[in-house]
This record gives sequence, C-alpha cells and structure tokens, in this order.
Amino acid sequence: MYTPPGFVPAHAPSAALAGDAHAFAFRGDQVLALAPDAETLILPRHDDLAAAGLSGNAHFLGMLGTRACAAIDLPDDAPEPAGMRYVGLRALFFKVPDELLALAARAFQIVDFERNHRFCGHCGVRLRARSRERAKECPSCGLVAYPRISPAMMVLVTRGRELLLARAHRFAPGMFSALAGFVEPGETIEDCVRREVHEEVGVDVTDITYFASQSWAFPHSLMIAFTATYAGGEIRLEDEEIADARWFPVDALPKLPMSVSIARRLIDATVMRLRGG
Ligand SMILES: [Zn+2]
Repeated sequence: MYTPPGFVPAHAPSAALAGDAHAFAFRGDQVLALAPDAETLILPRHDDLAAAGLSGNAHFLGMLGTRACAAIDLPDDAPEPAGMRYVGLRALFFKVPDELLALAARAFQIVDFERNHRFCGHCGVRLRARSRERAKECPSCGLVAYPRISPAMMVLVTRGRELLLARAHRFAPGMFSALAGFVEPGETIEDCVRREVHEEVGVDVTDITYFASQSWAFPHSLMIAFTATYAGGEIRLEDEEIADARWFPVDALPKLPMSVSIARRLIDATVMRLRGG
C-alpha cells in the first residue's frame, strides 16, 4: 500500500461530503462493497450509503483528484443492504483499482485509530480531535495521541546464489518467505534486521541494503524491506515463531507469498539480480 498518485491527504474537509465522495465504510474490520454479482466488488460512493440508509462517523481522508475520500465507521449492527457485502480488505485485491485498495487500507487505519483512542491513556478523560493535524488530545492533561504505525523490517539474506527463506507457523502450508519482525524501542531499523535474523535463525548478516517500504493495514505496520549478505552462523530455529528455515538455490525456490506483497517483490528482484550475475 502506498499514497496513490493524485491523492492529497487532509484531515479536515473543506465542505460537506459530496454524493460522489469515495466512502470506505467499515463494520468491524470489514469494508462495505457493492456486489452486483458473485465475482464483482465495487467500492461505494457516499450516495450509495445514503440510498441504503447507512450512516456512521465520517473521517475525512483527503482528495483523490476532484473527489473527496472518507472513512466511515458504521455501527456493529449496521445491516447488509441488498446488493452489497461486507468483505475483508484482502478480498478487494485484484477486484478494485489499486489506488482505491490503498485508500481503503488507509481508511481502515483511521477508523481503527478513532475507535481505539477515545479516552486519555493517562487520565481517562474523553479525547478531542486536534484541528491542525490528524491527532487527538486530552483537554485535561494535554496528552496527544497519533494514529499508531508500527515499523517492521523484512530482510532477504543471500549467500552466493542461495536465499534464506523461512516459514512462520501461521503461514499457508509449504509457503516460505523472507524474515520479518517489529522494531523495538531504542533500535535503528538496521539494528532490528541484525537482531531479528540472529534471534529467528541464528545467522549473522552484513551489507544491509534498503529495498523498498510498504504500508500494511493488518493492522498498522510500515514494512521496510532490505537485502543482506550472510556473514556467519548455522541455521538454528527460534521454535516459537519459526517452523522451518533453509537456504534455497535461486533455481529451486519453494512456494512464495502472493505478488501484491512486498515480500514477493523483494524475492523476485533479488532472484533477478542473482540470475543476472
Ligand atoms: Zn489526559
């Protein structure tokens, strides 16, 4: 996920939401989509919600071209209107345009922030929205809360023409991917790469090189991807998290994550580089 071209983020609307506004409406963690048939999903406009009698707290996201975009937090008991379905965000992959998928993911993070930052964590008073930025503040003690973003690293370690790929217990059967883990307080992202690789598989790395980053709304990660070179150690699994980890020759790779993931882009780009070299 990313900021789509032509999208200008903002936290306060300049006017009431027009009928043609993109309305990313969530009931729980599921987004509302028009479903004219079993195969098709279309993200609704504000008018579609109004016509279906649905309403909820609206949070302005910004403008995509000339159209406003809003995250709508529907009540937990909102009905599912005829011709519409509530679906997980992942169901939108390959069904709706990329830029709308990215904005739906962004919308979910804003709804999640609004739901889970209602009261001050310090003194318990109800928070209010800040006017000059996307944040909430406590009128009593002044504490300010921002939408939570959790930085995480992903790293693909290479040794000659081999890739170090691992399976977490939660992965689909047979699927391997690059290593990943969340940044801890006090660490740089590079510290995190070295620590996680050592903890998860017992290997040391060097030449940590930035590849790309991706916002990932499941629920609020910023995944920052790297390549690195093997520098020593034998594979030793951290059993709680890692089910298996192995060196795979570039020409004999296992089942890999889906193409929309940054993991897959990282693996594909590295395979291309190793095959070319
Ligand atoms: Zn407070």
